[in-house]
Amino acid sequence: MREKLRRHYQIQKEVSRGGKFQGKIELADLSRLSEFLLSGQSDILVEFSFRQSDYDVPMVEGRLQARLTVECQRCLKAMEIPLQIELKLLVSPTDSEVVESSLDTVFSENGSVDIFKMVEDELILGLPLVALHDDVACNEFWQTQEENPEQATKENPFSVLAKLKTTH
Ligand SMILES: [Zn+2]
Repeated sequence: MREKLRRHYQIQKEVSRGGKFQGKIELADLSRLSEFLLSGQSDILVEFSFRQSDYDVPMVEGRLQARLTVECQRCLKAMEIPLQIELKLLVSPTDSEVVESSLDTVFSENGSVDIFKMVEDELILGLPLVALHDDVACNEFWQTQEENPEQATKENPFSVLAKLKTTH
């Protein structure tokens, strides 16, 4: 069994020894992300290393891969979204470094970076805002609803009666 990744890494230490890491993060450890998902069964494969960037700050480089299950907004059934995200994040850069590099950012606290939080943020950003199956007919009732939006406002039976009365 593969060893679980650590949540925190000391940036300077990892940069100086060129730390490289690979492993799995379980969805159960990412509670904010889980709120966006339909089921909690997916492993997140993560691979990353630390190095000094071309700017004054270190960076985290790598990639992550996951298949997340969300709810299709058309049929409300499960829909799997494969995500593969390249990571290139400057660690606690200044505003001008962000602008100059146009790279994403991860913030460190007391010289340490929370990799789980970083992965979670990247995956949440990677999810579609509105998830819909490629098959536009995934909900057989969807089409009829759009074609007959007036269906619900059919003439009510009492007004029909009222009309009959006035013809007498
Ligand atoms: Zn659907």
